[in-house]
Formats: sequence, C-alpha cells, structure tokens
Amino acid sequence: MAVVITDTCINCAACIDECPVEAIVDEDDNPTGEEIYYVYADKCVECVDHHEVPACAEACPTEGCIVWGDTVDGMPEHANRGANGTPVIEE
Ligand code: SF4
Ligand code: SF4
Repeated sequence: MAVVITDTCINCAACIDECPVEAIVDEDDNPTGEEIYYVYADKCVECVDHHEVPACAEACPTEGCIVWGDTVDGMPEHANRGANGTPVIEE
C-alpha cells in the first residue's frame, strides 16, 4: 500500500524529509515527468511502525493533496486507512 501525491502539490518540500523510508522524490526526480513530488509505492510503508499518521500528509500544507493509493503486494497497510483516492488527512 502507499499514499499518492496529487496534482495539487505546490512543490513546497515539507514532506520529503519527513518520510522515514525515503519514498518521496521531488519534481526533478518524478518518474512520471509531472512537475510535482512523487511517492514510490514500492517503498512507502504508510508510516506503519514509524508514526501514528503518515508523516508526509501531516507535514503537507495543501489540503487533501496526499491521498490513499493502490495496494502493493507485501507492503504494510495503515490500520485506519481510507478508501483509495480519499485524503490521508481530512481537514
Ligand atoms: S506515508 Fe510515510 S512512508 Fe509513505 S511516503 Fe508518506 S512519509 Fe513516507
Ligand atoms: S508537502 Fe504537500 S505540497 Fe509540499 S511538496 Fe509535499 S506533497 Fe507537495
């Protein structure tokens, strides 16, 4: 499982250093070519065993920018995760 950064990202960099597993890259390293930050789903552990709440979403100043994403086999799943596409932090 993983979280996803959506196109409302303002490239503010608040999230990147908060990730305990270095799953986040900036717009220059986004493999999709989009000019926004990006989460590698095969690295994201949804902060399980690191934080109560996904640290990237907690740090992000943009409302609803980081959402729950698709399943990745073998990756940890947050106990209180919402449906895919819904914000990790509800304002
Ligand atoms: S949820 Fe946690 S592990 Fe996943 S990208 Fe955000 S900070 Fe990193
Ligand atoms: S904290 Fe939010 S707005 Fe800032 S770079 Fe990360 S995802 Fe984008």
